[in-house]
Amino acid sequence: MGSVKDYFSSLGAGVASLLKGMQVTGKEFITPKITERYPEDRETVKVPERFRAILTLKYDEDGRHKCIACGICQRNCPNGTITVTTKMVDMPDGKKKRKLDKYVYDLGSCTFCQLCVTTCPQDALDFSNDFEQAVFTREKLVKQLNYLPEKEEPAPAPKPAAVAAVAETPAVDAKQENKKEN
Ligand code: SF4
Ligand code: SF4
Repeated sequence: MGSVKDYFSSLGAGVASLLKGMQVTGKEFITPKITERYPEDRETVKVPERFRAILTLKYDEDGRHKCIACGICQRNCPNGTITVTTKMVDMPDGKKKRKLDKYVYDLGSCTFCQLCVTTCPQDALDFSNDFEQAVFTREKLVKQLNYLPEKEEPAPAPKPAAVAAVAETPAVDAKQENKKEN
């Protein structure tokens, strides 16, 4: 007799558990979905401006970034996400200058703390809100941020003293010619 009672008792508990589960499923079924049109609305979806999706180097309208390869962002990054390598290049005035060679950023280890952005003395960094960064391998999360070809440096402006010397040369010649004529 006891076993029949236990049977119906466990049957009732099973039905109650099933109804509870169906209640959760039903509630989720009628709850509005915030991504219900994604990815169809990919072009029009509004992502907050300040959303931190991926670190980027800022480029101006001439395609130049402002990074001077000082390495401050690399030193301030708490988990080694940034690797800055430099190279020496010849400048138009004949001097050598240390410049950025590669700016490598590992999106997979970034905590989006923004320490790199706030401590950069050149205001060369920013976070993009481009949220679609999913890839199939971790290697693809390692990105080189200086992707544009380096623009040539503008030729140095002549020094004021040199300009003045050039400007004075014809006057000196004219004086000497006057002396010869006299
Ligand atoms: S991004 Fe800024 S802090 Fe980092 S190396 Fe370039 S100039 Fe320095
Ligand atoms: S946001 Fe933080 S963790 Fe990410 S690269 Fe910058 S300093 Fe490193």
